[in-house]
Amino acid sequence: MPQLRKDPIVDQWVVIAAERGHRPTDFKPEAEPPSSGFCPFCPGNESRTPPEIMAIGRNGTAPNTPGWKVRVIPNKYPALAIEGGLNRQGYGMFDMMNGVGAHEVIVESPDHQWQFAEAPLEDIRDVLIAYRERIVDLHRDPRFRYSLVFRNYGVRAGASLAHPHSQLISIAVMPRRVKDELKAARDYFAHKERCIFCDIINQELMLNERVVVQNEHFLALSPFAARFPYELSIFPRRHRHDYTLMSDEEIWGLAHIMRNVLKRVKEALNNPAYNFMLHTAPYPNPRPGRPEYWGTLALDFHWHIEIVPRLTRVAGFEWGTGFYINPVAPEASTKVLREVEIKE
Ligand SMILES: [Zn+2]
Ligand SMILES: [Zn+2]
Ligand SMILES: [Zn+2]
Repeated sequence: MPQLRKDPIVDQWVVIAAERGHRPTDFKPEAEPPSSGFCPFCPGNESRTPPEIMAIGRNGTAPNTPGWKVRVIPNKYPALAIEGGLNRQGYGMFDMMNGVGAHEVIVESPDHQWQFAEAPLEDIRDVLIAYRERIVDLHRDPRFRYSLVFRNYGVRAGASLAHPHSQLISIAVMPRRVKDELKAARDYFAHKERCIFCDIINQELMLNERVVVQNEHFLALSPFAARFPYELSIFPRRHRHDYTLMSDEEIWGLAHIMRNVLKRVKEALNNPAYNFMLHTAPYPNPRPGRPEYWGTLALDFHWHIEIVPRLTRVAGFEWGTGFYINPVAPEASTKVLREVEIKE
């Protein structure tokens, strides 16, 4: 019998329709490489990208030349424009504003074949540090309310270039999904004086049905109301609201669990396309007339990374209703992912 499950954070119902007995091999998702040929992210081609914003690992080499380990550049085809005011206006009953924002690319390695699931931990740490630096730096722009870091791997996940990279978008409005999470976390805290994410983490550790892997600082689990098969969330085990406040030791722990989990996904599901998204605290800029708006943010929100392997396609029912049918019970996907042998 299919089950309806509710995500306690964003109050969203999901259909867990597991009776058809999907095995991991029933999905045929291998991440096809995007078109080959000239690669603007490979070393030696730095002049073919917009000028670099920052780089990690340069040992005296000049910007926009080879010698970097991680390189951050503006997206050549940005979804949003960096220049200009917000220019909020009404148009009859409608609201409009300029599409202002930052859209950056984090090139994760000079090696075109580099893989998150296989890389040395130091490489992954450098990528995670680049995320942190960029989120912190963009906070200095008072127009921005939120920075979202995400990674599209494989054509089916939206990647248009094969060279390993992630992206960051800073925007002047709060994204809906993040807003829902923030509001739910704040409401829960107002009632219980506890973090809803900490409560979920404690319960999942106690039940031990959906925890895939854990280390000293982090755990990865399949959410109770996972929207997609093999969806995962990574949380800091101790309460932390802001990704950018991570200690160096915690960054190692995150590098470790990210590689571990992505390796499990790769092995169990034949190298699927996937997306991951970092949900950290917003920029708590003062809001006109609502000085207390972010008053409990540091206590109520808990940053996390959501990983979604792209195994199924969202279709009419999802578009029409906003809720999801997941053909694999999270307990079943947890079991499959736990059984992957990882040599570290
Ligand atoms: Zn390349
Ligand atoms: Zn918490
Ligand atoms: Zn989230």
